[in-house]
Formats: sequence, C-alpha cells, structure tokens
Amino acid sequence: MDFGFTPEEEAFRQEIREFLRQELGPEHKGRTPLELFSREFTKKLAAKGWLGVGWPTEYGGLGRPYTQQLVYSEEMMQSRAPCGAHILAQNMAGPALFRVGSEEQKKEFLTRILRGELVFCLGYTEPDAGSDLANCQTTALLDGDEYVVNGQKLFTSFAGQADYAWMTVRTDPDAPKKHRGISMFIVDMKTPGITVGELDTMWDYSLYEVFFDNVRVPKSAVVGELNQGWHYLTVALDHERVFMGGVVALHRHLFEDIVQYAKTTYRNGKLISEDPIIRQRLAQLAIDLEIGRLFAYRVAWLLGKGTIPFAEASMTKIFTSELERRLANTAMQILGLYGPLDKGARAPLDGYVGWEYKFSLMQAVGGGSNEIERILIAIAGLGLPRP
Ligand SMILES: Cc1cc2nc3c(=O)[nH]c(=O)nc-3n(C[C@H](O)[C@H](O)[C@H](O)COP(=O)(O)OP(=O)(O)OC[C@H]3O[C@@H](n4cnc5c(N)ncnc54)[C@H](O)[C@@H]3O)c2cc1C
Repeated sequence: MDFGFTPEEEAFRQEIREFLRQELGPEHKGRTPLELFSREFTKKLAAKGWLGVGWPTEYGGLGRPYTQQLVYSEEMMQSRAPCGAHILAQNMAGPALFRVGSEEQKKEFLTRILRGELVFCLGYTEPDAGSDLANCQTTALLDGDEYVVNGQKLFTSFAGQADYAWMTVRTDPDAPKKHRGISMFIVDMKTPGITVGELDTMWDYSLYEVFFDNVRVPKSAVVGELNQGWHYLTVALDHERVFMGGVVALHRHLFEDIVQYAKTTYRNGKLISEDPIIRQRLAQLAIDLEIGRLFAYRVAWLLGKGTIPFAEASMTKIFTSELERRLANTAMQILGLYGPLDKGARAPLDGYVGWEYKFSLMQAVGGGSNEIERILIAIAGLGLPRP
C-alpha cells in the first residue's frame, strides 16, 4: 500500500499551485469557491486544459487518472479559487454528455465547455421533488416538432448566470413507475417563457427559482434516450465524487487559519492556544480532517480501479459535511464574540468564520441530504432491502 503521490502527480500539484499563486495573488480572500463566479478566470483554466483534466482525449480532455483529478480539485479548493462559472459544466454536464449525448450534442457543447464558454445550471429540485427527485412535476410534452416545457425548478445554483440548464423533465406522465417517465434535457436559458427569480439566503451565495411557461424547445434538447433521465442522473456522478477531496482541502484551509489565530491571539492575558479545551478540540479536528482526506482518497482510488463506490462516496459526503459543522463551531468558539462578524475591519479572518458558520448548516442538505445518503448506504453498502 502506498499513500504517497507519484512524481507526476506532485509535479502537477506544483504547477497548479504556482499558477494559482500568480493568478489569484496573496490578497485573494475567497470564501467558498462556489460563491466565486468569474468567466474570465474560468477561461484561464480552460487555456491550461484544466477544465478537462479527467475527460477522455478524444473529446479534447487531458485523459488524466482520477488521482490527478483529485490533486486538481484539492489545489483549487485549498486556494479558494473561483469555480462557479465552470463547476457544473466541467463535472456534471460535460462528463454525462461524452458518455450518453448524441454526436450533435457532443459537437455542440463539449468543445465550448472546454473553452470555458458555457455556464450550466442544474435543474433537478422542485417544490415537490427534493429528496424524492423521481417526483419531478415539470413536464415536457411533444407538440409537432418541439417539446413544450411547463413547471418550476427550485434552489437552482447559477440559474441567474447560466447559458443552459441541465434538467429533469417528465416526458411520460403515464409511466407505470414515476422514475421511468423522466428525461434529461438541455435547455437554452434564453428561450422565451423562462423566468428566473433570486431567492433570499443566509449567505452571499445566490440560489434561484426558475419558471417554465410554455417554453418551446427543439427535439435535440433531449439528452440520450427519451425516458432514461433517471439513469443519466447517476451517470456523471463519478466526476463529482472525485471533487470530495477538494472539499476536505477547503476545510483544511480554515483549520490552518484558526490554528494560526489561536497561536497568535491573546485572550485574558493568555494565548488562546494555551487553553486545554481549545487544544483538545483542535487535536480532534486534526484527526477528523485526516479521516476525511483518507475517505476522499479511497473514493478516488476505487474509481481508478473501475469500481463505482456508491456507499463510500455517501459516507464521505456525510462525514465531511458533519466535519464542516464541527469545524465551524470550534472556529466560532475560538473567535468568541468577534466570530459572528462576517464583514468589517473588526471581523477576524476576513469574516470567513461568521459566514462559514451559517453556510455549513446547508451542507447536510445540499447535494442530497445526509438522511438520504444514509438510506443509500443501507441499500448499496449493507444490502438492506429497499424501504
Ligand atoms: C446551497 C444549495 C445549493 C443547491 N443547488 C442546487 C442546484 O443547483 N440544483 C438543484 O436541483 N438543487 C439544488 N439544491 C437543492 C438540494 O439538492 C435540495 O435542497 C436537497 O436535495 C433536499 O431537497 P429539499 O430541499 O426539497 O428537502 P426535502 O426533500 O423536503 O427534505 C427535507 C428534510 O427531510 C428529510 N427527508 C426527506 N425524505 C426523507 C426520507 N425518506 N427519510 C429521512 N429523511 C428524509 C431530508 O433529509 C431533509 O432533512 C441546492 C441546495 C442548497 C442548500
């Protein structure tokens, strides 16, 4: 067993780190990379070929193994680099398209995604279809040569900026099982009949609702085969799973900042780092971060062996989202009454902790709630019967 990275992987890490150091500069203060949206920065990554690190070479990618994708996502997240303008196209829409898209769709979208020209949003969640995605109520019904889309999507990240929506629609309302009547569509967000509304959130991160009112889309909007949308929901997930290593690296950034803060800040005449309770908590977080990192590495390693690690990926998602919550709690305790300040000259660590404390609440829900992930572990990992 070898826990180290190869010389090529280490060289790749250094190349990315150097690029980010030059591009972002020492003053860069991103919070979560998701919050940061920059088409300009995305184009710079595209110029390096890094939007397609793991994509097959026949579609213009670099064809690198999962471990290099892991290295890429660790470095991007550790430096809090902007990723809003490419994350969904790079990790979800693109990989699903090169697996199941038509030749025309591959031609139309893949090169433009790799050039950093297209922003995608992901339209799965609806008012009555969150954890239960199979309950999708947005319909797309054939009328002549076009489909007519009607319905609503909710909590759609980047819908305000996106060029295209990668979305689920119900194309067969009479299917015997509800997940069988769902298709995946790519819809141009400029199509008449689409209205986007911004939702209030607790953090500087915009979520949207999207309304579809008799939106006419061509037949070419259908991804792959009609009524196979449920299957396609999972097709692109392995690229997303590798991203988890990056999430742990993002948490490590905050951890290192609070350790430094505790070592250099006095409270009641003593360094915070001398407090035995704080020391216990920081030591526990160091253990948790290491566990999270190993979880994420194992997922990448399993993917590299050709396995689809359903249960392991769910375990990693649960562990890292709960770790984020513990980290935010401890950081808040260390900062004391300054902790909740998320802006202003007196806010320690540029207000990251006050912001993260709120943002970490949503991690147990976003991207599939932890309860649903536990249900998946019970089925896929333990072989328990479906409820
Ligand atoms: C920051 C953020 C970004 C998001 N971005 C997107 C996006 O880009 N695109 C998109 O489509 N969606 C997005 N979402 C939506 C997200 O995927 C949903 O919030 C999530 O799937 C849960 O659905 P819901 O909110 O409808 O909650 P519900 O499904 O109503 O669940 C509410 C609670 O009930 C629990 N629950 C539900 N069913 C069960 C069950 N069977 N057993 C046990 N417990 C259960 C859940 O765990 C949860 O705690 C985003 C959410 C957030 C917070």
